[in-house]
Amino acid sequence: MREMPTRFALSLVVNLVCLVPTASGQDDPGTLGQRLLQQPEVRAALAAAKEGEPEVIDVQARLCEIAAPPFKEQARGDAVKRLFEDAGLRGVRIDRVGNVIGERPGRAARPNVVFSAHLDTVFPEGTDVRVTRNGPVLTGPGIGDDCRGLAVVLGVIRALSRASIETPGTITFVATVGEEGLGDLRGVRHLFDEELKGQIDRFVSVDGTGLGITHIGVGSRRYRITFKGPGGHSYGAFGLASPVHALGRAIAKVADLEVPAAPKTTFNVGRVGGGTSVNSIAYDAWMEVDMRSADAGALAALDRRFQAAVDAALAEEQARWRRGTLSVEKAVVGDRPAGATPEHAPIMQVAVGVSRALQLPVSLDEGSTDGNVPMSLGIPAVTIDGGGRGQGAHSLSESFNATESWKGTQRGLLLAIALAQR
Ligand SMILES: [Zn+2]
Repeated sequence: MREMPTRFALSLVVNLVCLVPTASGQDDPGTLGQRLLQQPEVRAALAAAKEGEPEVIDVQARLCEIAAPPFKEQARGDAVKRLFEDAGLRGVRIDRVGNVIGERPGRAARPNVVFSAHLDTVFPEGTDVRVTRNGPVLTGPGIGDDCRGLAVVLGVIRALSRASIETPGTITFVATVGEEGLGDLRGVRHLFDEELKGQIDRFVSVDGTGLGITHIGVGSRRYRITFKGPGGHSYGAFGLASPVHALGRAIAKVADLEVPAAPKTTFNVGRVGGGTSVNSIAYDAWMEVDMRSADAGALAALDRRFQAAVDAALAEEQARWRRGTLSVEKAVVGDRPAGATPEHAPIMQVAVGVSRALQLPVSLDEGSTDGNVPMSLGIPAVTIDGGGRGQGAHSLSESFNATESWKGTQRGLLLAIALAQR
């Protein structure tokens, strides 16, 4: 973990006071889950979650059989909207970018907890999305990532209503678009920038399988770099500056960049292309580059050095051959903000305490999820796994083992209740 600045110590005190207004000694977010377990209605909701798990798994399989390729989540979104309506949420709607939103009002509008999962998959249109079942194992693309999360969201809504749970604050349930790849978190960004701007106090994303808690949001920056020049015959026009040669120089410089091991910071030239034939000086050449870090400052520093390397490569190729003016275009094709919820933040203490109260293992992870956006904004956020065991995420043979998956639903439920306390 990073060192925590003084500013954080202050906000911890403020949040402790806000979380629990009751008598002294009752203000520890780490034991909130345990204390909630003493309430009969909370225990009833947990029992309802366990009993309802077969329905949760049905929802998981059904939603998964509705294709949701990148930028084409609408059909699955419509199905989730109907499920939200049937489950009795208020103000159910689909926003301008395609997020599905429904509220479960508490005794007050705040705190407002967003409890979410993502609609989209990495699979292109036309992928066979049928789900097969073999005992407890479900197989199908997206079955864990993130049909599991969507199903847990539904399971939590239903368990809350079956046990008639009333919360002090409001829970807003959301199914987001654009979490994966070039979706670039566009759904969750829209939520924080426009749709629910200034109205989200705590944020939970349920993403994937297992029982981990992700509190470090790995940021990324992706570019498509294109060098251009006049191009010409390899023999007749020899002496022209070449976009392919400039690209080679750029790759060599990128390959030599030094990055810190901690916070882990990485780069990769993933794809290259360009040119027309072996006997032509190319008129264009391109590469796609991915850079990542859990630390926003380290990522920004790497980005600056990367761009300088590209500019230097262009200048060197231009200086080598005075003829044929080169240009370079740097298109950002991905930009996910880095962020982290400190291990000692109240929301993390609540999340870990809820896992312990349910006697679940605690494992703290890092990753790139919808949680990155609130984390980068300093809004309390965690991403939790949805339970069960998954294999082969992002592959066509993805599978989900539902053995004791109700534990994931229960944890999501208890966390939602805990975060909707004052
Ligand atoms: Zn996911």
